[in-house]
Amino acid sequence: MTEKTTIEETYSRAGNTSNLAVEADRRGAGDVLIAAGMVGLNPSKSLGMSLMRLHSEFDSAARLREGATAIDIALLAARLRKLPGVVGLVTERAAVWGMEQPKDKALAVVLWWLDKRCKRCTGRLYERIPGSPGLSNIRCRSCNGTGEAHLPHGSDGRRLVNYIEASLHAGRDGLKRRLQAFEV
Ligand SMILES: [Zn+2]
Repeated sequence: MTEKTTIEETYSRAGNTSNLAVEADRRGAGDVLIAAGMVGLNPSKSLGMSLMRLHSEFDSAARLREGATAIDIALLAARLRKLPGVVGLVTERAAVWGMEQPKDKALAVVLWWLDKRCKRCTGRLYERIPGSPGLSNIRCRSCNGTGEAHLPHGSDGRRLVNYIEASLHAGRDGLKRRLQAFEV
């Protein structure tokens, strides 16, 4: 299944109108997101903007903290100004979808999204050689050589990540169009 299909399916499911599903077949994901926004189904454009700001806050803070542990990352994330708003919006969506413990899931997924790197190998894919800065040829035992941390909360986690990615897409799209309007 492609990422595009996943996003379109997410929005098809989110839509109450059959019209949106038809649009999803005929047009690209970006068009569908715009259409979804126009019919009032998608509050995610502002979420997308918040996600972009949150990620840049996180990146600038994280740069100071190379080699940070998962707990360090969580503590650091707790100081990010955009985090409560983003988690709030994702929690609302999780609740709408009838997920249990929506806030716990929203927080865990947003933190995962902020720093997807495997905490054991920090995205380097291979195990370290003990007592040396070099890497062995053994795949990381935690991520099995994908370099990515395990996404929490199974299919609920996957669904929320899809929502985050779709919102980001919508936010980027909105930003791009605003910038284009500015240039004219
Ligand atoms: Zn790893």
